[in-house]
Amino acid sequence: MYTPYEQRKGEIPFASAEYISFASRNSFLGVPAVTMDELGDGSVVILGAPFDWGTTYRPGARFGPQAIRNADYGAMDGYRPHLPTGIDPFEALGVVDVGDVYVRPGELEISIARIADAVEEVCASGKVPIVLGGDHTITWPDALGVARVHGFGEVALIHFDAHADTGFTQNGSLYGHGTPMRRLIESGAVPGHRFVQIGLRGYWPEPEVMEWMREQKMRSFLMSEIVERGLPAVVDEAVAYSLEGGAKGVFISVDIDVVDPGFAPGTGTPEPGGLGSRELLDTVRRLARDLEVLGADVVEVSPPYDGAGEQTAYLANRVVLEILNGMAERKAAAPER
Ligand code: MN
Ligand code: MN
Repeated sequence: MYTPYEQRKGEIPFASAEYISFASRNSFLGVPAVTMDELGDGSVVILGAPFDWGTTYRPGARFGPQAIRNADYGAMDGYRPHLPTGIDPFEALGVVDVGDVYVRPGELEISIARIADAVEEVCASGKVPIVLGGDHTITWPDALGVARVHGFGEVALIHFDAHADTGFTQNGSLYGHGTPMRRLIESGAVPGHRFVQIGLRGYWPEPEVMEWMREQKMRSFLMSEIVERGLPAVVDEAVAYSLEGGAKGVFISVDIDVVDPGFAPGTGTPEPGGLGSRELLDTVRRLARDLEVLGADVVEVSPPYDGAGEQTAYLANRVVLEILNGMAERKAAAPER
Protein backbone atom coordinates (compact mmCIF):
# COMPACT_ATOMS: atom_id res chain seq x y z
CA MET A 1 0.00 0.00 0.00
CA TYR A 2 2.89 2.36 0.59
CA THR A 3 4.62 2.14 -2.75
CA PRO A 4 2.99 5.01 -4.65
CA TYR A 5 3.21 7.16 -1.56
CA GLU A 6 6.83 6.34 -0.84
CA GLN A 7 7.79 7.19 -4.39
CA ARG A 8 6.16 10.58 -4.12
CA LYS A 9 6.86 11.28 -0.47
CA GLY A 10 9.60 13.82 -1.03
CA GLU A 11 7.58 15.92 -3.40
CA ILE A 12 4.51 16.27 -1.19
CA PRO A 13 4.63 19.15 1.31
CA PHE A 14 3.23 18.88 4.83
CA ALA A 15 0.98 21.87 5.28
CA SER A 16 -1.99 21.64 2.98
CA ALA A 17 -3.58 25.08 3.19
CA GLU A 18 -2.17 26.19 -0.15
CA TYR A 19 -3.08 22.90 -1.83
CA ILE A 20 -6.55 21.99 -0.59
CA SER A 21 -9.34 24.50 -0.18
CA PHE A 22 -10.75 23.10 3.06
CA ALA A 23 -7.51 23.09 5.05
CA SER A 24 -7.09 25.45 8.01
CA ARG A 25 -5.43 28.79 7.50
CA ASN A 26 -4.92 29.70 11.13
CA SER A 27 -3.67 28.03 14.28
CA PHE A 28 -5.50 26.55 17.27
CA LEU A 29 -6.59 29.52 19.40
CA GLY A 30 -3.73 31.55 17.97
CA VAL A 31 -0.86 29.46 19.34
CA PRO A 32 2.35 29.80 17.32
CA ALA A 33 1.95 28.42 13.79
CA VAL A 34 5.14 26.55 12.95
CA THR A 35 6.57 24.09 10.46
CA MET A 36 7.67 20.57 11.36
CA ASP A 37 11.22 21.90 11.48
CA GLU A 38 10.36 24.50 14.12
CA LEU A 39 8.58 22.54 16.84
CA GLY A 40 10.56 24.32 19.56
CA ASP A 41 10.78 23.56 23.28
CA GLY A 42 7.12 23.00 24.06
CA SER A 43 5.56 19.64 24.76
CA VAL A 44 2.37 19.63 22.68
CA VAL A 45 1.87 19.87 18.92
CA ILE A 46 -1.55 20.42 17.36
CA LEU A 47 -2.08 19.11 13.85
CA GLY A 48 -5.16 18.76 11.68
CA ALA A 49 -6.37 15.93 9.46
CA PRO A 50 -9.11 17.39 7.24
CA PHE A 51 -10.15 13.98 6.03
CA ASP A 52 -13.69 12.66 5.59
CA TRP A 53 -13.49 10.13 2.78
CA GLY A 54 -13.80 7.30 5.29
CA THR A 55 -17.36 8.18 6.33
CA THR A 56 -20.36 5.92 5.74
CA TYR A 57 -23.11 8.52 6.06
CA ARG A 58 -23.00 12.30 6.35
CA PRO A 59 -19.68 13.81 5.21
CA GLY A 60 -18.30 17.18 6.30
CA ALA A 61 -15.62 16.30 8.88
CA ARG A 62 -13.02 17.68 6.44
CA PHE A 63 -14.15 21.06 7.78
CA GLY A 64 -13.59 19.92 11.37
CA PRO A 65 -10.03 21.16 11.92
CA GLN A 66 -10.74 24.74 10.87
CA ALA A 67 -14.00 24.87 12.86
CA ILE A 68 -12.35 23.47 16.00
CA ARG A 69 -9.41 25.86 15.71
CA ASN A 70 -11.71 28.85 15.34
CA ALA A 71 -14.30 28.10 18.05
CA ASP A 72 -13.49 30.87 20.47
CA TYR A 73 -14.60 34.40 21.25
CA GLY A 74 -11.54 36.51 21.54
CA ALA A 75 -7.80 36.26 21.81
CA MET A 76 -6.55 36.03 25.36
CA ASP A 77 -3.22 37.54 24.33
CA GLY A 78 -1.47 34.40 25.39
CA TYR A 79 -2.92 34.62 28.90
CA ARG A 80 -5.48 31.93 29.66
CA PRO A 81 -5.44 30.51 33.19
CA HIS A 82 -8.08 27.85 33.73
CA LEU A 83 -10.55 29.01 36.42
CA PRO A 84 -10.63 25.78 38.50
CA THR A 85 -6.84 25.29 38.55
CA GLY A 86 -5.39 28.73 38.01
CA ILE A 87 -2.99 27.18 35.50
CA ASP A 88 -2.49 28.51 31.97
CA PRO A 89 -2.04 25.28 30.02
CA PHE A 90 -0.39 27.03 27.07
CA GLU A 91 2.24 28.54 29.29
CA ALA A 92 2.65 25.39 31.37
CA LEU A 93 3.02 23.01 28.43
CA GLY A 94 4.14 25.01 25.41
CA VAL A 95 1.74 24.40 22.53
CA VAL A 96 2.34 24.96 18.80
CA ASP A 97 0.28 24.19 15.70
CA VAL A 98 1.83 22.74 12.53
CA GLY A 99 -1.33 23.09 10.46
CA ASP A 100 -3.04 20.35 8.54
CA VAL A 101 -1.50 17.23 7.10
CA TYR A 102 -1.76 17.29 3.32
CA VAL A 103 -4.31 14.51 3.04
CA ARG A 104 -5.19 13.86 -0.57
CA PRO A 105 -8.89 14.04 -1.40
CA GLY A 106 -10.10 10.68 -2.69
CA GLU A 107 -6.83 8.92 -1.84
CA LEU A 108 -7.54 7.01 1.31
CA GLU A 109 -4.39 4.95 1.76
CA ILE A 110 -1.98 7.74 0.87
CA SER A 111 -3.78 10.08 3.25
CA ILE A 112 -3.60 7.52 6.05
CA ALA A 113 0.13 6.98 5.44
CA ARG A 114 0.79 10.72 5.52
CA ILE A 115 -1.08 11.16 8.80
CA ALA A 116 0.81 8.28 10.44
CA ASP A 117 4.16 9.73 9.32
CA ALA A 118 3.29 13.20 10.61
CA VAL A 119 2.20 11.90 14.02
CA GLU A 120 5.28 9.69 14.22
CA GLU A 121 7.52 12.65 13.47
CA VAL A 122 5.91 14.70 16.26
CA CYS A 123 6.30 11.85 18.76
CA ALA A 124 9.86 11.16 17.67
CA SER A 125 10.73 14.74 18.62
CA GLY A 126 9.54 13.97 22.16
CA LYS A 127 6.24 15.84 21.91
CA VAL A 128 2.60 14.95 22.35
CA PRO A 129 0.50 15.17 19.16
CA ILE A 130 -3.13 16.27 19.39
CA VAL A 131 -4.87 15.66 16.08
CA LEU A 132 -7.99 17.55 15.03
CA GLY A 133 -10.17 15.42 12.72
CA GLY A 134 -11.42 14.47 10.40
CA ASP A 135 -13.53 11.33 10.50
CA HIS A 136 -12.59 8.48 12.80
CA THR A 137 -10.57 6.68 10.14
CA ILE A 138 -7.66 8.83 11.30
CA THR A 139 -7.30 7.15 14.69
CA TRP A 140 -5.72 4.20 12.88
CA PRO A 141 -2.77 6.31 11.61
CA ASP A 142 -2.82 8.57 14.71
CA ALA A 143 -2.34 5.79 17.25
CA LEU A 144 -0.12 3.86 14.82
CA GLY A 145 2.23 6.85 14.59
CA VAL A 146 2.36 7.05 18.40
CA ALA A 147 2.97 3.30 18.71
CA ARG A 148 5.81 3.41 16.17
CA VAL A 149 7.68 5.67 18.58
CA HIS A 150 6.52 4.48 22.01
CA GLY A 151 6.29 0.81 21.09
CA PHE A 152 3.67 -1.57 19.76
CA GLY A 153 1.61 -2.78 22.70
CA GLU A 154 2.97 -0.09 25.02
CA VAL A 155 0.18 2.46 24.63
CA ALA A 156 -3.36 2.14 26.02
CA LEU A 157 -6.21 3.67 24.06
CA ILE A 158 -9.17 5.32 25.73
CA HIS A 159 -11.88 5.63 23.13
CA PHE A 160 -14.99 7.79 23.60
CA ASP A 161 -17.67 6.96 21.05
CA ALA A 162 -21.26 5.91 20.46
CA HIS A 163 -19.78 3.31 18.11
CA ALA A 164 -17.17 0.59 18.63
CA ASP A 165 -15.39 1.21 15.28
CA THR A 166 -14.17 -2.39 15.28
CA GLY A 167 -15.62 -3.52 11.96
CA PHE A 168 -13.46 -5.90 9.95
CA THR A 169 -14.21 -4.11 6.69
CA GLN A 170 -16.40 -1.22 5.63
CA ASN A 171 -18.07 -1.54 2.23
CA GLY A 172 -15.31 -3.98 1.36
CA SER A 173 -12.49 -1.65 2.41
CA LEU A 174 -10.16 -2.24 5.32
CA TYR A 175 -10.04 1.51 5.95
CA GLY A 176 -12.84 3.79 7.05
CA HIS A 177 -14.37 5.34 10.14
CA GLY A 178 -15.94 2.02 11.16
CA THR A 179 -12.70 0.03 11.26
CA PRO A 180 -9.77 1.92 12.88
CA MET A 181 -9.84 0.04 16.19
CA ARG A 182 -9.78 -3.31 14.36
CA ARG A 183 -6.71 -2.23 12.38
CA LEU A 184 -4.94 -1.10 15.54
CA ILE A 185 -5.63 -4.39 17.29
CA GLU A 186 -4.78 -6.62 14.32
CA SER A 187 -1.53 -4.77 13.61
CA GLY A 188 -0.48 -5.12 17.24
CA ALA A 189 -0.05 -1.35 17.57
CA VAL A 190 -2.67 -1.29 20.33
CA PRO A 191 -3.70 -4.77 21.48
CA GLY A 192 -7.31 -5.37 22.54
CA HIS A 193 -6.50 -5.62 26.25
CA ARG A 194 -5.14 -2.06 26.09
CA PHE A 195 -8.51 -0.68 24.89
CA VAL A 196 -11.08 1.09 27.03
CA GLN A 197 -14.23 2.24 25.23
CA ILE A 198 -16.72 4.62 26.81
CA GLY A 199 -20.24 5.49 25.65
CA LEU A 200 -21.25 2.73 23.21
CA ARG A 201 -24.94 2.55 22.38
CA GLY A 202 -27.45 2.00 19.61
CA TYR A 203 -27.50 -0.86 17.14
CA TRP A 204 -23.99 -1.37 15.85
CA PRO A 205 -21.86 -3.47 15.69
CA GLU A 206 -23.51 -6.87 15.31
CA PRO A 207 -23.18 -9.68 17.91
CA GLU A 208 -20.30 -11.42 16.10
CA VAL A 209 -18.18 -8.28 16.30
CA MET A 210 -19.09 -7.75 19.97
CA GLU A 211 -17.97 -11.33 20.59
CA TRP A 212 -14.67 -10.69 18.78
CA MET A 213 -14.17 -7.58 20.94
CA ARG A 214 -14.67 -9.64 24.11
CA GLU A 215 -12.17 -12.21 22.83
CA GLN A 216 -9.65 -9.39 22.36
CA LYS A 217 -10.25 -8.39 25.99
CA MET A 218 -11.38 -4.90 25.09
CA ARG A 219 -13.12 -3.18 28.00
CA SER A 220 -16.20 -1.54 26.52
CA PHE A 221 -18.49 0.50 28.74
CA LEU A 222 -21.93 0.85 27.19
CA MET A 223 -24.02 3.95 27.96
CA SER A 224 -26.41 1.59 29.75
CA GLU A 225 -23.63 0.56 32.16
CA ILE A 226 -22.62 4.20 32.65
CA VAL A 227 -26.21 5.12 33.54
CA GLU A 228 -26.53 2.18 35.88
CA ARG A 229 -23.20 2.58 37.75
CA GLY A 230 -22.60 6.30 37.34
CA LEU A 231 -19.84 7.86 35.24
CA PRO A 232 -17.29 8.38 38.07
CA ALA A 233 -17.27 4.67 38.94
CA VAL A 234 -16.80 3.77 35.29
CA VAL A 235 -13.96 6.27 34.88
CA ASP A 236 -12.27 4.89 38.01
CA GLU A 237 -12.32 1.47 36.40
CA ALA A 238 -11.17 2.85 33.05
CA VAL A 239 -8.14 4.48 34.70
CA ALA A 240 -7.26 1.29 36.54
CA TYR A 241 -7.74 -0.86 33.45
CA SER A 242 -5.53 1.33 31.29
CA LEU A 243 -2.74 1.27 33.88
CA GLU A 244 -2.89 -2.50 34.26
CA GLY A 245 0.10 -4.38 32.93
CA GLY A 246 2.29 -1.30 32.80
CA ALA A 247 1.32 0.64 29.69
CA LYS A 248 3.68 3.57 29.08
CA GLY A 249 0.79 5.96 28.66
CA VAL A 250 -2.46 6.54 26.85
CA PHE A 251 -3.84 7.81 23.60
CA ILE A 252 -7.21 9.52 24.11
CA SER A 253 -9.54 9.35 21.11
CA VAL A 254 -12.73 11.39 21.35
CA ASP A 255 -15.43 10.82 18.74
CA ILE A 256 -17.69 13.78 19.38
CA ASP A 257 -20.74 11.58 18.78
CA VAL A 258 -20.18 10.10 22.24
CA VAL A 259 -22.01 13.23 23.38
CA ASP A 260 -25.77 13.38 22.93
CA PRO A 261 -26.69 14.92 19.56
CA GLY A 262 -28.78 17.42 21.52
CA PHE A 263 -25.45 18.94 22.60
CA ALA A 264 -23.39 17.92 19.60
CA PRO A 265 -25.51 17.73 16.44
CA GLY A 266 -22.62 18.53 14.09
CA THR A 267 -21.50 15.00 13.42
CA GLY A 268 -21.84 12.40 10.69
CA THR A 269 -23.56 9.48 12.42
CA PRO A 270 -25.56 10.87 15.37
CA GLU A 271 -26.83 8.44 18.02
CA PRO A 272 -29.26 9.85 20.61
CA GLY A 273 -28.79 9.14 24.29
CA GLY A 274 -25.16 10.03 24.89
CA LEU A 275 -23.05 11.82 27.49
CA GLY A 276 -23.59 15.46 28.34
CA SER A 277 -20.99 18.04 27.33
CA ARG A 278 -20.01 18.65 30.96
CA GLU A 279 -19.50 14.95 31.58
CA LEU A 280 -17.14 14.58 28.63
CA LEU A 281 -15.14 17.71 29.51
CA ASP A 282 -14.68 16.69 33.14
CA THR A 283 -13.75 13.15 32.18
CA VAL A 284 -11.07 13.98 29.62
CA ARG A 285 -9.48 16.46 31.99
CA ARG A 286 -9.37 13.90 34.75
CA LEU A 287 -7.88 11.26 32.44
CA ALA A 288 -5.19 13.65 31.23
CA ARG A 289 -4.34 14.47 34.83
CA ASP A 290 -4.29 10.88 36.12
CA LEU A 291 -2.62 9.23 33.11
CA GLU A 292 0.39 9.98 30.94
CA VAL A 293 -1.04 11.28 27.65
CA LEU A 294 1.14 10.31 24.69
CA GLY A 295 -1.31 11.50 22.05
CA ALA A 296 -4.94 12.40 21.44
CA ASP A 297 -7.43 13.11 18.72
CA VAL A 298 -10.87 14.72 18.51
CA VAL A 299 -12.85 13.48 15.53
CA GLU A 300 -16.16 13.38 13.68
CA VAL A 301 -16.98 17.09 14.00
CA SER A 302 -18.98 17.89 10.85
CA PRO A 303 -19.63 21.64 10.83
CA PRO A 304 -22.26 21.61 8.03
CA TYR A 305 -24.56 19.69 10.41
CA ASP A 306 -23.74 21.78 13.47
CA GLY A 307 -26.31 23.98 15.17
CA ALA A 308 -26.52 27.70 14.48
CA GLY A 309 -24.59 28.25 17.70
CA GLU A 310 -21.72 26.06 16.46
CA GLN A 311 -22.03 24.16 19.72
CA THR A 312 -20.30 21.03 18.42
CA ALA A 313 -17.22 22.95 17.28
CA TYR A 314 -17.09 24.80 20.62
CA LEU A 315 -17.39 21.55 22.51
CA ALA A 316 -14.59 19.93 20.48
CA ASN A 317 -12.39 22.97 21.05
CA ARG A 318 -13.01 22.69 24.80
CA VAL A 319 -12.31 18.97 24.75
CA VAL A 320 -8.84 19.81 23.44
CA LEU A 321 -8.48 22.51 26.08
CA GLU A 322 -9.55 20.20 28.90
CA ILE A 323 -7.03 17.59 27.77
CA LEU A 324 -4.38 20.35 27.87
CA ASN A 325 -5.60 21.47 31.30
CA GLY A 326 -5.37 17.94 32.68
CA MET A 327 -1.86 17.57 31.27
CA ALA A 328 -0.89 20.89 32.81
CA GLU A 329 -2.23 19.84 36.21
CA ARG A 330 -0.24 16.61 35.97
CA LYS A 331 2.90 18.54 35.14
CA ALA A 332 2.34 20.98 38.02
CA ALA A 333 1.99 18.06 40.44
CA ALA A 334 5.24 16.46 39.24
CA PRO A 335 7.21 18.96 37.13
CA GLU A 336 10.00 16.51 36.35
CA ARG A 337 7.64 14.27 34.34
MN1 MN B 1 -16.00 6.71 15.88
MN1 MN C 1 -19.12 7.39 16.45
